[in-house]
Amino acid sequence: MDTIPLVHASLGDRELAAVAEVFASGWPAGQGPRGAALEARLTERYGVGDAVAVSNCGAALHLALLALGVSPGDEVIVADYTFPAPAHAVRYVGAVPVFADVRADTGTVDPQAVADLIGPRTVGVIAVDTVGLPADYAELTSITERYGLFLVEDAACAVGATYRGRPAGALAPIGCLSFHGRKGATSGEGGALLTTDPAHAADARLRSSFGIGSIFEQAKVVGLPIPVFTDVGYNYKLSDIAAAILQVQLDRVEELLERRRAVAARYAERLAGEDLLTLPHVPADRTHAWQSYLVTLDPRVDRAGLAADLRAQGIGAGHGTWACHRQPVYEAKQQCPVSADLFARNLAIPMHAELTMTQVDRVAEVLRGALRTHARPHGTQEGAA
Ligand SMILES: *Cc1c(COP(=O)(O)O)cnc(C)c1O
Repeated sequence: MDTIPLVHASLGDRELAAVAEVFASGWPAGQGPRGAALEARLTERYGVGDAVAVSNCGAALHLALLALGVSPGDEVIVADYTFPAPAHAVRYVGAVPVFADVRADTGTVDPQAVADLIGPRTVGVIAVDTVGLPADYAELTSITERYGLFLVEDAACAVGATYRGRPAGALAPIGCLSFHGRKGATSGEGGALLTTDPAHAADARLRSSFGIGSIFEQAKVVGLPIPVFTDVGYNYKLSDIAAAILQVQLDRVEELLERRRAVAARYAERLAGEDLLTLPHVPADRTHAWQSYLVTLDPRVDRAGLAADLRAQGIGAGHGTWACHRQPVYEAKQQCPVSADLFARNLAIPMHAELTMTQVDRVAEVLRGALRTHARPHGTQEGAA
């Protein structure tokens, strides 16, 4: 049986060769020449003021909130339907995440829900490009500017996506990228903070390396200047090994995205007219990075049974992402009914750049069959005998 995994990282010989070069250079750690070159390339690619290469997107979000001066007791409005990294980052700095519900059609944060949650302690908003689809930045920007709030874009899943012709990651004054193995461009683990404000970048870069500048650069200085520590920083540096891998991945990002787009288009064709699920919706003013492919199941479908069936037939399946307000860690008293509904009904099916059209067709066919097996007939009640 052909097994079709849910995700697969496209890493190959070119990335291996780049790693071999780093080994030969003698500088595998962070903030070396490869890291600096990656930062220059990201700054150029995104047309931002500066880019800071970091160990992961969670670190980028943490550094963003530190640079913005978020303090204990502050409230930060976060998109609810997402991997919980934004809300975790808010908690790292002792602030309170306030969960905003999402649009039913896109899963991205609902700008009206954001506006409704603004209160005296609100300092900013973290929007998320849900599984690779950019949020409504025109509306979000007008709201945050009107109330003097910061806006951070969590573009962890959205490398290669666009919104009104602009690249995801550069749709807010600070954008955070992930290069984790399940994202569209990867070095295993990795991330970046992009910002229009060079002062925020300088702050983030310093705090990403224990609060002192690049050791690699200092070794080149004549004499023996000894750096001083004036603040407590973290070790959030991206290794030069990872930076070298990412140079290759950025060369390939369009090619890899093209293949994900072809997979999405084929699913849309093969699953068209299936009344037990809703296909993902991409508004006309933006493009999707297809980090995941989520379908929304009809309420009559038993998702757990369906997913177990797909897995038994060698096809990867997942629940999609999380309704953060439902996670026990936050003890949130809020309701985000749309997010809760997507959390209950979404299903992730295989999406990566190495899928063949034969595999995609098989997923669609098995899924159509399994939907019939795991749906209650029309008119029956949930829990009815
Ligand atoms: C994956 C993900 C993150 C975390 O990225 P890491 O690089 O693993 O820290 C953050 N936000 C969102 C929306 C994600 O999907």
